[in-house]
Amino acid sequence: MAVQQNKKSRSRKGMRRSHDHVAVPAVIYCKCGSPTLPHSVCPSCNRYNGHHVGNTKDSSN
Ligand SMILES: [Zn+2]
Repeated sequence: MAVQQNKKSRSRKGMRRSHDHVAVPAVIYCKCGSPTLPHSVCPSCNRYNGHHVGNTKDSSN
């Protein structure tokens, strides 16, 4: 088991943990009103940036 050589200070601990947070994914709202990830096709209406794109394989509408 690895044993630390010196105790890390509260400041060093905070500096290390400053990168530990999980980034919250950005959400945009499509023209149909459903939340969508940016730079991706809306899963409910198959539109990208307001433009209709080809149907996906599992489209039911
Ligand atoms: Zn949509």
